[in-house]
Amino acid sequence: MPGGVKTDVRTYQLYIKGEWVDSKSNKTFPVYDPASEEVIAQAPDANADDVNRAVAAAKAAFEDGPWATTTAQERGRVLFRLADKIRQNTAMLAELESRNTGKPIVEAEYDITDVATCFEYYGGLATKILGYVNPVPDNAMSLTLKEPIGVAGQIIPWNYPLLMAAWKLAPALAAGCTCVLKPAEQTPITALEMANWLSDVGLPPGVVNIITGFGETCGAPLVQHPDVNKIAFTGSAAVGKIIVKQAADTVKRVTLELGGKSPNIFFADADFEAAIDGALFGVFINQGEVCSAGSRILVQKPIYKKFVDAMAAKAKTIKLGAPLDRDTKMGPLVSKEQYDRVRSYQEVGKKEGKLAAGGGRAEKFAKGYYIEPTIFYDLDNSARIAREEIFGPVAAVIPFEDEKDAVKIANDSPYGLAAAVWTRDIFKAFRTVKSLRAGIVWVNHMQPTYVEAPWGGYKQSGFGRELGPWGIEEYLETKQVHINLNEAPIGWY
Ligand code: ADP
Ligand code: MG
Repeated sequence: MPGGVKTDVRTYQLYIKGEWVDSKSNKTFPVYDPASEEVIAQAPDANADDVNRAVAAAKAAFEDGPWATTTAQERGRVLFRLADKIRQNTAMLAELESRNTGKPIVEAEYDITDVATCFEYYGGLATKILGYVNPVPDNAMSLTLKEPIGVAGQIIPWNYPLLMAAWKLAPALAAGCTCVLKPAEQTPITALEMANWLSDVGLPPGVVNIITGFGETCGAPLVQHPDVNKIAFTGSAAVGKIIVKQAADTVKRVTLELGGKSPNIFFADADFEAAIDGALFGVFINQGEVCSAGSRILVQKPIYKKFVDAMAAKAKTIKLGAPLDRDTKMGPLVSKEQYDRVRSYQEVGKKEGKLAAGGGRAEKFAKGYYIEPTIFYDLDNSARIAREEIFGPVAAVIPFEDEKDAVKIANDSPYGLAAAVWTRDIFKAFRTVKSLRAGIVWVNHMQPTYVEAPWGGYKQSGFGRELGPWGIEEYLETKQVHINLNEAPIGWY
């Protein structure tokens, strides 16, 4: 049995300073399987005392431990070894992820592969953190050095639990930071399983600490802690706003990846079959529990009705099923709370628009938080279901007149995470791309995401970028160094 798990009860412990420990309060909270609605594990309910311990460990590891002098080459090797462990254990991690989130096993396997790829990418990038020589107009050498920011607090959502942890841990470690990671309370298991290998791959104690707990009692004290130098957060816009306020007192660096209400725009000249596919995939992948979900589907008027009918017909054939079934395309939503939220939006939608497909719970399942893929149409962009992030399988299909109208509707949102545009006209595609206020824009596709390319939002979808070289920048400080090359005194007085 791996460390950190007390056999048969599957009660996990916290991972602090390279050791498995109980929370100071000794309290735990239940972790669920959303398909069976049963408890599958207990995780420690960490509070401010545990946050203090974890931050102290991370601070000591940053300032005095061997990590401070570990070379970039060796940091890179550590990340490669961690990636190897992930690859060797893909089946186990994917199964845990699928059981705990409800996502289809096939998607969970992709996620875990992406986790390994992310560690590999940043393993390579560790040795490519470069400084500059600045061309100052004096007899001096002016340098720019890049240095790790220090202790990073990392707050993770439940939709891609281990992948979102990797997006934050990998660049932080490549940069030379130390970390206190808080998984979402709904899905803490895979991060804790990964902690079993951290010491074996060569991370000194305290470099990565994992604490499980709730937002207000564990996340908030991490955000407010004076020894945490940076907070990286992925989650809801509501909590993102709280975090910015909480981080103000210690002038903490913050990066936020928040919600979205991403437009998926279909011009009449788009390939029709590919368009229908792209609309469904864009909004229903991962049960719609995706920050970049294409939940506002904007369709040009000449094809609008045909589009809605084709989408609805296909949506009814999407295979909902047990998460561990290999042909399942959609599993249950992650939790009762999320299920209730999405169900209530389905009712709101029935008042705001017309229903083309779904609209309720998927009743063929006796248990589990299953929701039918749901499509509303004949509604306006001012509808609540077109403005508020639902984070579930609910689509709003909105008609538009022309290019100008499409861009206007698309940008009429407090959010700006992602957008997509479908057309065979390259000029129209580029004009639209340039006009959209979003951090990620796809043309004739929606959702592909690569570790090599930046990820993050405009407007209230947050700030800062993850992935690629942009992701490591967020874990680096910039130091200017001036070396005087005149041996004579300045002669000021
Ligand atoms: P959801 O609404 O889907 O639960 P959240 O934004 O609440 O999404 O959760 C994302 C992450 O933020 C989770 O790890 C959660 O525990 C954490 N969190 C929630 N509230 C706070 C808070 N006040 N301070 C810090 N972290 C929080
Ligand atoms: Mg929450």
